Amino acid sequence: MSSGLIITYFGNGKGKTTAALGVALRAIGYDFNVCMIQFIKGEWNYGEIYSSNRLKPNFELIIAGKGFIGILDDDHDISEHISSAKSALEIAKEKINSLRYDTVILDEVNYALKLKLIEERDLISMLQTKPPAVNIILTGNYLTDQILDISDLVTEMKEIKHPYKKGIRAKKGIDF
Ligand code: ATP
Ligand code: MG
Repeated sequence: MSSGLIITYFGNGKGKTTAALGVALRAIGYDFNVCMIQFIKGEWNYGEIYSSNRLKPNFELIIAGKGFIGILDDDHDISEHISSAKSALEIAKEKINSLRYDTVILDEVNYALKLKLIEERDLISMLQTKPPAVNIILTGNYLTDQILDISDLVTEMKEIKHPYKKGIRAKKGIDF
C-alpha cells in the first residue's frame, strides 16, 4: 500500500510556494492530479493562475484567502480573514477526502495558523484522518511542534540573500 507524505516548507527565505509548485509540475508529468489551495492570497501569485489553465485538468488552483493581512492596504476586517481561512480549510478537507487528487497543497496554511485564523487541532485532525495515499504539502513561514511531528519531510527555506534587500522589485515569472 502506498502511503502519502506530509511535506512542510517553511522559513524566512524565498522558495516555499515555488517548491510546492515544482512538486506539482513533476507529478502532473505522470498524469497525477494536484490541487493547490491558497489560504492567504498574495497579490502577486499570478503566474500560477495562468499556468493552472494550461495544466487542466490535472492542476486545480483555489484562491480562498482574502489578501495580505495587517498591512496598510488591507481593508478587510480580521473576521473576514478568519472566515475565508476557515472556508479554505473546509475546501481542503473536501479536496483531500474526495480522492480525486494525488497531492493537495495548502499554501500559506502555516502562516494562517500563526495568525490564529484557523485552529491547529482542526488542521492536525484533518492530516491525521487523511486518506493514506494522498500527499499533502504545507507552506508558510511558521512551524509548530505538532506540524513538525506529523510531517514526514520538513525543509526550512533560510534567507541568505534576497534581491529585495538591494531594492530589486518582485519579478514577473520569478516572484509572481
Ligand atoms: P515564492 O512564492 O517565491 O516561492 P515563498 O512562498 O517562499 O516565495 P512567501 O512568504 O509566500 O514566500 O512570499 C511571497 C512573495 O514574497 C514572493 O513574491 C517571494 O518572492 C517574496 N519573498 C519571499 N521570501 C522573501 C524574502 N526573504 N524577502 C523578500 N521577499 C520575499
Ligand atoms: Mg508562498
